Amino acid sequence: MKLSTQILLGFSLIIVLSVVNSYVNYTLSQQVNQNSTFLTNSETIIRNSGRLNKSIIDMQSAFRGYLLTDDDDFLEPYYSSLKEIPTLFKEQSQLVQEYPVHRQRLDSIKVLHQEWIDYANSLISAKKKLGDKGDYETLFNTRFRKQFGQKLNNQISDKFREFDRYEYKVRQVRRETLSESISQTNTYSIIFLGVIICIGAISTIYIVRLISKRIAAMVNVAHNISNGNFVNVEDNQNDELTSLSTSLNIMSATLNKNIRELEKRNNELNQFAYVVSHDLKAPLRGIYNVTQWIEEDLQTELSPSLKRYLNIIPERIARMEGLIDGLLDYARIAREKPLKEYVDVNILVRDIVDDIVPKDTEISIGRLPGFATDKLRLEQVFSNLISNAVKYGSAEHPRIGIDCHELPKFYEFTVSDNGIGIDPGYHDKIFVIFQTLREKNAKESTGIGLAIVKKILDDQHCSIRVESEPGHGSSFIFTWNKN
Ligand code: ADP
Repeated sequence: MKLSTQILLGFSLIIVLSVVNSYVNYTLSQQVNQNSTFLTNSETIIRNSGRLNKSIIDMQSAFRGYLLTDDDDFLEPYYSSLKEIPTLFKEQSQLVQEYPVHRQRLDSIKVLHQEWIDYANSLISAKKKLGDKGDYETLFNTRFRKQFGQKLNNQISDKFREFDRYEYKVRQVRRETLSESISQTNTYSIIFLGVIICIGAISTIYIVRLISKRIAAMVNVAHNISNGNFVNVEDNQNDELTSLSTSLNIMSATLNKNIRELEKRNNELNQFAYVVSHDLKAPLRGIYNVTQWIEEDLQTELSPSLKRYLNIIPERIARMEGLIDGLLDYARIAREKPLKEYVDVNILVRDIVDDIVPKDTEISIGRLPGFATDKLRLEQVFSNLISNAVKYGSAEHPRIGIDCHELPKFYEFTVSDNGIGIDPGYHDKIFVIFQTLREKNAKESTGIGLAIVKKILDDQHCSIRVESEPGHGSSFIFTWNKN
């Protein structure tokens, strides 16, 4: 499966879970909301029921007081309650609209109360009509004495008690449901949150591990390629990173092929240079011999100018041989396998100095290291630099210095002289083969020595530079691998 698809899937799963979580929470909070609204309503219903009940009781007390004392003051609360009670009934009916049981009870309370009002009103109006004492007496004896009103009152009180009891019971149930909904909401939220965190963490770890492991493999391959080790990376996942790995493998294979090709061509070139320079020496010897024969056989017949010309030929042949030898040395560098052995650079340098430096030259040699390295090539480098220091050194008081400075991975050697120096414009040119700043015919100047030094150092990824000014001597500074 594609990497982008996997990442997309992980995120989609988390988004879906979040949506489901939000939906469940929303539904549960709706329930919580409903239950809280119900509880608020229920409190109003109970409060209203209490007010209604109290007003009815106030009316009943006022009625009884009036009958017993005949005091009109008692009728005041009676009438005010009479006015207030219908409004309270109306309010209560609206609140219990959705509860049939309540509605039924309220209706029966209303009927009973209305019956009681009729009874009470008839007694009050009979008592007020003083002339009609017989009526009042009859009503008082047949109804009041027989506790007609009291019975109605009791029935109303019972209904109110039932009403409240039922409301309290429903409220209790709702309260339990409310707390259950709240705890359910909390539980679901925690579960969903846990699942989302787990899936998020697992998919993140999975993707990160999947990617980082494979990227590390690719980095490793790139590192190997940079070290000339053209390996391949294995990746069969068939996604975007696999395409990258495939490109890396193709690059590695192409580089490998090109480098092998280059090495082959280089070897062929070295071989060619070696064979050509070797074969050139024989005809050169032949030419030299012919000039010798001419001189010997035609000694008397040669004109002085011809003799002078014939004398130039051996000089030119010697220079030609010098160039060919230099070319052979140059080609030999690549042919000879590097051989590591312990080298005491101090001894190596002293031997060279003893061999090629004239006795009148002042020599100063610093602390030079001892380490395992390719002795032959290091010797070639020092020989060329020291012989140049002699060749181009000061004519009057020649001085040559050889020193070393240790770096973490390299030794940095310096070969300096107090000779003729080099113009900065030629500091790069002198390392190119056959480049010489001297007269072209100078026998000992072929322009190959520094080219050999440069080739040896390039082959092992080391460097060389020159610090010099005309007339102020030269310092050749080169690095050499410790390993
Ligand atoms: P060659 O010495 O045979 O000419 P090299 O390659 O050794 O060839 O040197 C190239 C040129 O660099 C020399 O011809 C010379 O002009 C210049 N050169 C090299 N070493 C020194 C030095 N120590 N002082 C001044 N010039 C130098």
